[in-house]
Amino acid sequence: MKKQEMASIEQRTQAVRDALLEQGLVTASDLDTFAHMPEDWKPENGAAVVARAWTDPDFCRRLLADATAACAELGYKGPQGEYIVALEDTPAQHNVIVCTQCSCTAWPVLGLPPDWYKSPEYRARVVREPRRVLKEMGLNLSPDIGVRVWETSAETRYMVIPLRPAGTEGFSEEALAALVSREALIGVAMASEPA
Ligand code: FE
Repeated sequence: MKKQEMASIEQRTQAVRDALLEQGLVTASDLDTFAHMPEDWKPENGAAVVARAWTDPDFCRRLLADATAACAELGYKGPQGEYIVALEDTPAQHNVIVCTQCSCTAWPVLGLPPDWYKSPEYRARVVREPRRVLKEMGLNLSPDIGVRVWETSAETRYMVIPLRPAGTEGFSEEALAALVSREALIGVAMASEPA
Protein backbone atom coordinates (compact mmCIF):
# COMPACT_ATOMS: atom_id res chain seq x y z
CA MET A 1 0.00 0.00 0.00
CA LYS A 2 1.29 3.40 -0.94
CA LYS A 3 1.93 5.64 2.00
CA GLN A 4 -0.39 8.62 1.79
CA GLU A 5 1.19 11.98 2.15
CA MET A 6 -0.35 14.17 4.80
CA ALA A 7 -1.55 17.59 3.75
CA SER A 8 0.29 20.54 5.27
CA ILE A 9 -1.11 22.23 8.36
CA GLU A 10 -2.12 25.19 6.17
CA GLN A 11 -4.03 22.94 3.76
CA ARG A 12 -5.79 21.15 6.60
CA THR A 13 -6.67 24.44 8.32
CA GLN A 14 -8.09 25.74 5.05
CA ALA A 15 -10.14 22.56 4.59
CA VAL A 16 -11.67 22.87 8.08
CA ARG A 17 -12.35 26.55 7.50
CA ASP A 18 -14.06 25.86 4.18
CA ALA A 19 -16.16 23.07 5.68
CA LEU A 20 -17.33 25.25 8.60
CA LEU A 21 -18.27 28.10 6.26
CA GLU A 22 -19.95 25.76 3.79
CA GLN A 23 -22.09 24.22 6.51
CA GLY A 24 -22.98 27.66 7.84
CA LEU A 25 -21.59 26.81 11.29
CA VAL A 26 -19.53 30.01 11.44
CA THR A 27 -19.39 33.23 9.47
CA ALA A 28 -16.30 34.81 7.96
CA SER A 29 -16.60 37.58 10.55
CA ASP A 30 -16.58 34.98 13.38
CA LEU A 31 -13.36 33.56 12.00
CA ASP A 32 -11.83 37.01 11.78
CA THR A 33 -12.78 37.68 15.41
CA PHE A 34 -11.25 34.40 16.58
CA ALA A 35 -8.09 35.00 14.58
CA HIS A 36 -7.39 38.13 16.64
CA MET A 37 -8.51 36.68 19.94
CA PRO A 38 -5.14 36.11 21.62
CA GLU A 39 -4.01 39.72 21.19
CA ASP A 40 -7.30 41.42 22.06
CA TRP A 41 -8.61 39.31 24.93
CA LYS A 42 -6.29 39.30 27.89
CA PRO A 43 -6.37 39.74 31.66
CA GLU A 44 -4.90 43.23 31.29
CA ASN A 45 -8.40 44.22 30.13
CA GLY A 46 -9.96 42.94 33.32
CA ALA A 47 -7.24 44.69 35.31
CA ALA A 48 -8.17 47.99 33.62
CA VAL A 49 -11.82 47.39 34.53
CA VAL A 50 -10.86 46.79 38.18
CA ALA A 51 -8.64 49.89 38.28
CA ARG A 52 -11.51 51.99 36.92
CA ALA A 53 -13.88 50.49 39.50
CA TRP A 54 -11.42 51.30 42.30
CA THR A 55 -11.16 54.94 41.24
CA ASP A 56 -14.65 55.73 39.92
CA PRO A 57 -17.53 54.86 42.28
CA ASP A 58 -20.14 55.51 39.57
CA PHE A 59 -18.40 53.09 37.23
CA CYS A 60 -18.14 50.57 40.06
CA ARG A 61 -21.91 50.79 40.59
CA ARG A 62 -22.53 50.27 36.88
CA LEU A 63 -20.09 47.35 36.86
CA LEU A 64 -21.87 45.62 39.73
CA ALA A 65 -25.29 46.27 38.16
CA ASP A 66 -24.36 45.16 34.62
CA ALA A 67 -20.78 44.11 34.05
CA THR A 68 -21.33 43.29 30.38
CA ALA A 69 -22.32 46.90 29.66
CA ALA A 70 -19.66 48.39 31.95
CA CYS A 71 -16.85 46.33 30.37
CA ALA A 72 -18.14 47.31 26.93
CA GLU A 73 -17.79 50.98 27.97
CA LEU A 74 -14.04 50.35 28.04
CA GLY A 75 -14.21 48.44 24.76
CA TYR A 76 -14.09 44.94 26.23
CA LYS A 77 -16.82 42.84 24.69
CA GLY A 78 -17.21 39.89 22.37
CA PRO A 79 -17.62 36.15 22.31
CA GLN A 80 -17.78 34.46 25.72
CA GLY A 81 -18.44 37.86 27.21
CA GLU A 82 -22.11 38.24 26.45
CA TYR A 83 -23.11 37.99 30.10
CA ILE A 84 -20.40 39.04 32.51
CA VAL A 85 -21.05 39.34 36.25
CA ALA A 86 -18.60 41.17 38.52
CA LEU A 87 -18.11 39.90 42.08
CA GLU A 88 -16.84 42.44 44.58
CA ASP A 89 -14.55 41.23 47.34
CA THR A 90 -15.00 42.84 50.75
CA PRO A 91 -12.81 42.58 53.86
CA ALA A 92 -15.27 39.93 55.10
CA GLN A 93 -15.98 38.07 51.86
CA HIS A 94 -13.65 36.61 49.25
CA ASN A 95 -14.85 35.33 45.87
CA VAL A 96 -13.30 32.68 43.65
CA ILE A 97 -14.36 31.38 40.23
CA VAL A 98 -14.36 27.91 38.75
CA CYS A 99 -15.93 26.15 35.80
CA THR A 100 -16.46 22.60 37.01
CA GLN A 101 -17.76 21.49 33.62
CA CYS A 102 -14.84 22.59 31.51
CA SER A 103 -12.89 25.86 31.47
CA CYS A 104 -15.19 28.84 30.88
CA THR A 105 -13.80 32.33 31.46
CA ALA A 106 -15.02 35.75 30.37
CA TRP A 107 -12.70 35.98 27.37
CA PRO A 108 -12.89 39.74 26.74
CA VAL A 109 -11.69 40.57 30.28
CA LEU A 110 -9.84 37.44 31.43
CA GLY A 111 -8.50 36.00 28.22
CA LEU A 112 -8.29 32.28 27.64
CA PRO A 113 -8.16 30.08 30.75
CA PRO A 114 -4.75 29.14 32.15
CA ASP A 115 -3.83 25.44 32.36
CA TRP A 116 -4.32 25.17 36.13
CA TYR A 117 -7.87 26.51 35.75
CA LYS A 118 -8.64 23.76 33.25
CA SER A 119 -7.15 21.01 35.41
CA PRO A 120 -9.62 18.43 36.78
CA GLU A 121 -7.94 18.83 40.16
CA TYR A 122 -8.69 22.56 40.50
CA ARG A 123 -12.22 22.14 39.15
CA ALA A 124 -13.07 19.36 41.57
CA ARG A 125 -11.25 20.52 44.67
CA VAL A 126 -11.88 24.27 44.80
CA VAL A 127 -15.57 23.52 45.24
CA ARG A 128 -15.06 21.04 48.07
CA GLU A 129 -12.18 22.63 49.92
CA PRO A 130 -11.65 26.17 48.64
CA ARG A 131 -9.57 27.38 51.59
CA ARG A 132 -7.13 24.53 51.26
CA VAL A 133 -6.80 24.94 47.49
CA LEU A 134 -6.30 28.69 47.84
CA LYS A 135 -3.66 28.11 50.51
CA GLU A 136 -1.83 25.66 48.26
CA MET A 137 -1.91 28.33 45.54
CA GLY A 138 -0.35 30.86 47.92
CA LEU A 139 -3.43 32.65 49.23
CA ASN A 140 -3.80 32.03 52.93
CA LEU A 141 -7.11 33.54 54.04
CA SER A 142 -7.82 34.10 57.69
CA PRO A 143 -10.70 31.98 59.03
CA ASP A 144 -12.90 35.04 59.64
CA ILE A 145 -13.00 35.83 55.90
CA GLY A 146 -15.84 34.05 54.13
CA VAL A 147 -15.11 32.30 50.84
CA ARG A 148 -17.71 32.02 48.13
CA VAL A 149 -17.10 29.80 45.11
CA TRP A 150 -18.91 30.77 41.92
CA GLU A 151 -19.55 28.34 39.10
CA THR A 152 -19.00 30.13 35.84
CA SER A 153 -20.71 28.54 32.86
CA ALA A 154 -21.28 28.82 29.14
CA GLU A 155 -23.88 31.52 29.85
CA THR A 156 -22.59 33.44 32.85
CA ARG A 157 -18.96 34.53 33.07
CA TYR A 158 -17.70 35.95 36.32
CA MET A 159 -14.83 38.26 37.15
CA VAL A 160 -13.63 39.15 40.64
CA ILE A 161 -13.04 42.73 41.78
CA PRO A 162 -10.30 42.18 44.37
CA LEU A 163 -9.77 44.49 47.32
CA ARG A 164 -7.74 47.57 46.53
CA PRO A 165 -4.39 47.20 48.31
CA ALA A 166 -3.52 49.64 51.07
CA GLY A 167 -0.97 52.29 50.24
CA THR A 168 -2.27 52.91 46.72
CA GLU A 169 -4.00 56.22 47.39
CA GLY A 170 -3.32 58.61 44.55
CA PHE A 171 -2.16 55.87 42.17
CA SER A 172 -3.08 56.32 38.51
CA GLU A 173 -5.43 53.80 36.91
CA GLU A 174 -2.48 52.44 34.97
CA ALA A 175 -0.44 51.90 38.13
CA LEU A 176 -3.41 50.26 39.85
CA ALA A 177 -4.12 47.97 36.90
CA ALA A 178 -0.54 46.71 37.06
CA LEU A 179 -1.33 45.28 40.52
CA VAL A 180 -4.16 43.08 39.20
CA SER A 181 -3.15 39.72 37.79
CA ARG A 182 -5.23 37.13 35.98
CA GLU A 183 -5.10 35.09 39.20
CA ALA A 184 -6.59 38.01 41.15
CA LEU A 185 -9.40 38.32 38.58
CA ILE A 186 -10.22 34.63 39.12
CA GLY A 187 -9.90 34.94 42.89
CA VAL A 188 -6.94 32.65 43.63
CA ALA A 189 -4.73 35.62 44.53
CA MET A 190 -5.12 39.09 45.99
CA ALA A 191 -4.16 42.21 44.10
CA SER A 192 -0.44 42.77 44.63
CA GLU A 193 0.84 45.16 47.28
CA PRO A 194 2.61 48.16 45.76
CA ALA A 195 6.37 47.76 45.59
FE1 FE B 1 -16.47 25.82 31.05
